[in-house]
Amino acid sequence: MFKVEDIRKDFPILSRKVNGKPLVYFDNAATSQTPQQVIDVIVDYYSNYNANIHRGVHTLSQEATDLYEQARQKIQRHFNAKFSHEIILTSGTTHGINLVANGFSSLLKKGDEIIVSALEHHSNIVPWQMLCERTGASLKVIPMTQEGELEMAIYDTLLSKNTKLVFVNHISNALGTINPIETIIDKAHKVGAAVLIDGAQSCAHLKPDVQKLNVDFYVASAHKMCGPTGVGVLYGKEEWLKKLPPYQGGGEMIAEVTFEKTTYADLPHKFEAGTPNICGGIAFGAAIDYMNSIGFDAIASYENELLAYGTKQLLTIDGLKIYGTSEHKTSVISFNLDSIHPYDVGSILDKLGIAVRTGHHCAQPIMDYYKIPGTVRASFSFYNTKAEIDSLVEGVKKAKMMLS
Ligand SMILES: *Cc1c(COP(=O)(O)O)cnc(C)c1O
Repeated sequence: MFKVEDIRKDFPILSRKVNGKPLVYFDNAATSQTPQQVIDVIVDYYSNYNANIHRGVHTLSQEATDLYEQARQKIQRHFNAKFSHEIILTSGTTHGINLVANGFSSLLKKGDEIIVSALEHHSNIVPWQMLCERTGASLKVIPMTQEGELEMAIYDTLLSKNTKLVFVNHISNALGTINPIETIIDKAHKVGAAVLIDGAQSCAHLKPDVQKLNVDFYVASAHKMCGPTGVGVLYGKEEWLKKLPPYQGGGEMIAEVTFEKTTYADLPHKFEAGTPNICGGIAFGAAIDYMNSIGFDAIASYENELLAYGTKQLLTIDGLKIYGTSEHKTSVISFNLDSIHPYDVGSILDKLGIAVRTGHHCAQPIMDYYKIPGTVRASFSFYNTKAEIDSLVEGVKKAKMMLS
């Protein structure tokens, strides 16, 4: 039995009120909430260990370095990377993607092709467009279906010996679709292309095994999985990370510097210029511990229950249309109410203490495909309840009454 009432006690924010009503937090796909266990680690770090890492001989610096490197190992175990130096700590998914896109600048030339999907977050589109501008490579797009799935037969036709890189998200943040990344990765490898998976959305719902997936790069953000903002991970296969040039120059990433020539530090430091988000990295490790203590199987099965319940209850409302109806999806429900603007629905829900996301969810191509300005998105986490979904349904009914 999933003890959601006990789990909720770990999250102080869930007991606050918004506009005089108990908070119903359904914007988990934008950022997750933080449990006390992670907050404690942050407070403990600044109360007892705050120092710069990898540099000082003094005790504080050594202790902070140890904690930071232990967090890297936790992240390594969680994603099942072969080596801890394949774990690059970043400021988040966006940073990880830009790091790889920048690295490929020196590896691509005119005539090369890279493949993206129609289901992407802007952060997995724009850096690649910039890469194409720099190199003359061209960008191909795997189209989507009405259900919000990828057209895999068309993917086959896009792949060729010119394909150098494929990048898709594991789970769509706007629709919740779980993409068939195993097949995407295998097929890309058959033509010799590398694959980057954007795991920003998936990391909250499942535990990816990068070795089993045989993926070349996998990126994620701590703040989508109960950790703090401003920290994330880029997993890269050792051979690829050795091949890519550094992204930023600065302290920490060098072996030796003279004005004639600088040699770079070994992995992972080559990609970690400057003072990192030390506390954030350590808290990321704590967030991983926390989520594993609940267990990803338990999380997935409970969230699926919420998804089924929410879908059924919302569809009882006349004129409500759900976008993203794949059988393979996580607990994200994107919807619109007749022709009412999503922003208006979201504003009324906020007055009732219910936090949802409205707009294009940083995935404008999906909205263009459906010819809509955006959606209302309710995204559920393992600390949400069916009673909260009932409040949402009541709220949407009220919005409908007020706005139509
Ligand atoms: C949130 C998200 C991102 C961006 O993550 P940041 O933490 O803002 O860098 C990218 N892709 C997907 C699928 C996301 O959900």
